[in-house]
Amino acid sequence: MHVIVLGSSAGGGLPQWNCGCPQCHAARRGDPDVHARHQSSICVSADGVNWVLFNASPDVRSQLAATPALWPTALRHSPVRAIALTNADIDHAAGLLVLREGGAPAIYCTERVEEALTEGLRILPVLGAYGPVHVRRVTPGETVRVCDRDGAPTGVSVRAFVVASKPSPYMAGRHANDPRGDLAGDTVGYAITADGSDDALVYVPGVRDLDDALRDELSRARCVLIDGTFFTDDELVAMGASTKTARVMGHAPLAGDTGLLAFLRGLTHVRRVLVHINNSNPVLREGSDAREALAAHGVELAHDGLSMVW
Ligand SMILES: [Zn+2]
Repeated sequence: MHVIVLGSSAGGGLPQWNCGCPQCHAARRGDPDVHARHQSSICVSADGVNWVLFNASPDVRSQLAATPALWPTALRHSPVRAIALTNADIDHAAGLLVLREGGAPAIYCTERVEEALTEGLRILPVLGAYGPVHVRRVTPGETVRVCDRDGAPTGVSVRAFVVASKPSPYMAGRHANDPRGDLAGDTVGYAITADGSDDALVYVPGVRDLDDALRDELSRARCVLIDGTFFTDDELVAMGASTKTARVMGHAPLAGDTGLLAFLRGLTHVRRVLVHINNSNPVLREGSDAREALAAHGVELAHDGLSMVW
């Protein structure tokens, strides 16, 4: 299996267009201690030829251009055969509009995400004006062989699992009476395997509740790429950028007794890598105390272009 991190930042990227915080300024200036980062996405391949994109960020055009494995090998061609979405957030879905020429690759998502992209963002109806749209429904708990638009297997399989979450902000309030509440599939993680192998990559760029079900998923993985959005719960509040805490925004913070680093402590047999890092997170600065806390826990910080093969 081949894995490439195309974007290791959360929504907004680093630097974020309207942010004058010290880290965004450092990234703009080219400070060697704070690297610029694209928004959240990875790609996976079983054969190094046919690739599945996980999330389509608004930066996808630059991400494909920066990744030779994803360059066309013929006139009007792309090695990106399919796209799987973890939710319908702008930073994970707006890139679908960038991939319209010639018709978008096959799109895998839950019912809730398909609804958001159809009725909320209206990306799917808009894409339909540029070519056929192939949406394949993902049901949490079921393993799916990911196929391209024509139905040819990519060699990659996924099993989605639900993580507690709310609908994307632009869909807020639509499902207030749904008895499934936070577990309706607005956000999922994926256990990703190459066909014929049990060595799973678990990809969870957004997760708030660190529970036994999640621990079980992570403990069976070979590698996890997991939500490192915020270091502390009140990170944005303390810097004066927002009134919302990390958990209110759907992310478990890294620090503290109930944080992600403590949660990951027992999983020493699994490669643990943080993705979806917000531009406010102090781990983004080399040499910071927060970065050293990661190292002390045996947890890595992804960077754009990070490549893994097994
Ligand atoms: Zn900033």
